[in-house]
Amino acid sequence: MTDTPTQLFIGGAWVDAADGATMPVDDPATGEILCHVADAGPKDARLAEDAAVQAQEEWARTAPRVRSEILRRAYEIILERTDELAHLMTAEMGKPLAEARGEVAYAAEFFRWFSEEAVRIDGGLATLPDGRNRMLLSRRPVGPCLLITPWNFPLAMGTRKIGPAVAAGCTMVLKPAPQTPLSSLALAAILKEAGLPDGVLNVVTTSRAAEVCEPLLRGGQIRKLSFTGSTAVGRLLLAQCADTVVRTSMELGGNAPFIVFEDADLDKAVDGAMVAKMRNMGEACTAANRFFVHASVAEEFGRRLAERMGALVVGPGTRDGVDVGPLIDRTGRAKVEELVADAVERGARVLVGGRTPEGPGCYYPPTVLTDVAPDSRLMDTEIFGPVAAILTFDDEDEVVRRANDTPWGLVGYVFTEGLDRALRVSERLEAGMVGLNTGLVSNPAAPFGGVKQSGLGREGGRVGIDEYLEYQYLAVPVR
Ligand code: NAP
Repeated sequence: MTDTPTQLFIGGAWVDAADGATMPVDDPATGEILCHVADAGPKDARLAEDAAVQAQEEWARTAPRVRSEILRRAYEIILERTDELAHLMTAEMGKPLAEARGEVAYAAEFFRWFSEEAVRIDGGLATLPDGRNRMLLSRRPVGPCLLITPWNFPLAMGTRKIGPAVAAGCTMVLKPAPQTPLSSLALAAILKEAGLPDGVLNVVTTSRAAEVCEPLLRGGQIRKLSFTGSTAVGRLLLAQCADTVVRTSMELGGNAPFIVFEDADLDKAVDGAMVAKMRNMGEACTAANRFFVHASVAEEFGRRLAERMGALVVGPGTRDGVDVGPLIDRTGRAKVEELVADAVERGARVLVGGRTPEGPGCYYPPTVLTDVAPDSRLMDTEIFGPVAAILTFDDEDEVVRRANDTPWGLVGYVFTEGLDRALRVSERLEAGMVGLNTGLVSNPAAPFGGVKQSGLGREGGRVGIDEYLEYQYLAVPVR
């Protein structure tokens, strides 16, 4: 912790907030303060924006190979420092160390992937239908970007945006979540060490998100917003972007259905459920929120899932053998408690968990609810905790209709051994991603994103860099 930067990163320098403000970073395992970091205000945000704007032109001209090699070097440094970064993430966010190490590898992979994409930005030359005019197509960076990230994957949500922005030649102001600023500051230090020029990435940690971000979005210099967070905040930011027509990528909330058909392999389904539900303590946009299980296998699936969930060890993420760390904060835990109480009031049975432990830290036990009433609040609210809510269904049309009966469409999970059914149901699901007999879809080489109110655009994959590029078309008449 001692070497971790705690100041703002502006124009390649570490600086205090202009008004000297700082904010605490808490350890969710104990509730104690880990350290204080600079708390930026609008003036600091303007300086960060200026630095990004100033660096943009030269950065856009930098050779793709140079940008690629900076990302590659940063990828290597991140992997070399896996342990250090994992401890930092566990300290500020709570996830068990094994999961934090997994996130370090996942986060680093975005830099490797986009280091490979940086040198493959293409253009084109075409003869137009009249046979005389030519079209020269080139791709150019969008310009300075504002990147806003959530607390649940503190490192990977940063690299998933910074990687393609660097590859495309965009400069950035990154505003991480106030609960987890340390991972982003550590990332900035790594990128500087890897050779990223001053001003290309600027990091403003702040407890005053609205005050800091709105002037940037309305000011006309920021050309793109990439946001990962809740749908409610995404909607607000889209409205702010409208005035100056700022381009957006929005990775928003989810309400994932997890469908288990009567012909599913229940071993696979329970394994998949453990990942889709318990990755990151359930604090993931991809978390299975509604388990629809065919009535003929629901009892056995519930029993087996409850057994596995009940065997998980809950405790501080730094302790050996712990599977489930604390939730991010007391507010997050209170929301989970309320959703479970509401479901139980409407008739749900608790197969395991469901009781908040005494003592410090924001712990909540792995919980399985069955006989959940369809009008329970957790059916249309992201639970964001280790709670599996099981409902039953009888036929395919019915389950597809119920799965799609939500304003969100990030991801769905389908478990069946029938290929026809697997493809048919996946195609009918209104979701940007589908896990077929698997509980994990995230992969830097795949386009991540949702439909409906789960977002706009995709991150990762071949298309991830497109979000940071504009086309320019040159009309060339040939006489
Ligand atoms: P959040 O409350 O929407 O916050 C996300 C980020 O936006 C934070 O940095 C937050 O800072 C900032 N923010 C909030 N209000 C703002 C405003 N008016 N102007 C500018 N910035 C503002 O979400 P969260 O609780 O951190 O994260 C959980 C949500 O993220 C869930 O809904 C989850 O599904 C979603 N998520 C989606 C994906 C995906 O790829 N689709 C991935 C991960 C998470 P403050 O906290 O200071 O307000």
